[in-house]
Amino acid sequence: MIQAVCPLCGSPTPYAFLCAPRLDQVSGAEYTYLRCPDCGFVFLDPAIESEAAHYEESGYYSHRPPIMGMAIGPMMGWFNRLRLWMVERAWRRSPGRLLDIGCGRGRFLACARDAGWECMGVEPMERSWRVAVEEYGLQVMTEPLRDDHFAPESFEVVTLWHTLEHIPDPLHVMRNVQRWLVSGGLAVIAVPNIASLQSLLGGPLWFHLDPPRHLSHFTPQTAASLLTSCGFETPEVYFFYPELNEFGMVQTILNRLGFSPNLLFNLLKRNRDGLPSSKAALVLNLVGVLLFLCMTWPLLLLMTWLEEWVGRGGTMVLMARKPPEGLGERQ
Ligand SMILES: [Zn+2]
Repeated sequence: MIQAVCPLCGSPTPYAFLCAPRLDQVSGAEYTYLRCPDCGFVFLDPAIESEAAHYEESGYYSHRPPIMGMAIGPMMGWFNRLRLWMVERAWRRSPGRLLDIGCGRGRFLACARDAGWECMGVEPMERSWRVAVEEYGLQVMTEPLRDDHFAPESFEVVTLWHTLEHIPDPLHVMRNVQRWLVSGGLAVIAVPNIASLQSLLGGPLWFHLDPPRHLSHFTPQTAASLLTSCGFETPEVYFFYPELNEFGMVQTILNRLGFSPNLLFNLLKRNRDGLPSSKAALVLNLVGVLLFLCMTWPLLLLMTWLEEWVGRGGTMVLMARKPPEGLGERQ
């Protein structure tokens, strides 16, 4: 018997929607996502949500340098410039104060600071914030978010790049973000899209499902209704996100074909817990993946671009404004 209430609309009748394994460990543990029949919001069964607190200890978000760091470094630089370009195109004014919630190692914030933004980050994971503070010299709040963390109207732009799906109460956080923004300020959230083509193809093996770390999953509609219910204007939704969509499609298809789960990702992150234990199995998997990708990479790219083009991209970016002075009270 499910005893959960939809965190978004309060409906008392969520039902079991998807049962999925962890793909970073060969533990066999499965996690249940519930779906609200009224608003469509998908969330991890609260009864197991507390387990997600342990993911920092897992190798999944490994903070060792990734394999092929030389190639990935410049690519990450380009992705962060693309993020900033998206923000500045929507903001259309001169740089102001920018808050990045879940800033990680601070690469995006450093990029924004170099472009003239006054930057502040929030990041509770020590191994990440140490890099942001010591390597990039950024200002980072390291405690978990509180309602009084910032005064009202403290920022022109607040960004959450793949953070909201990790937060137990996204509604509460976005209400705070709305308060911390100035009138006409911009909130930017990037989240996986559970209505995407790759989610449909992957089901429980979709790369971006990621239980138990991803506590919530959004469709363009549920993400938009979360934002409007927090007092934002109707958001613009973008599905073009080369940082994660192409990789998500490739890894999801490989998972579906029966290769070792999240093989490429676990390899890139040097996460040994998720790789086949025998060398022979690892080599066999790698040869199979290489052969498959050599034959199909144009098709996989085409599928990713197609899903983005028809509004079913694997991840999405929502840009929502706080109504200008006076309009907010009338809503
Ligand atoms: Zn609901």
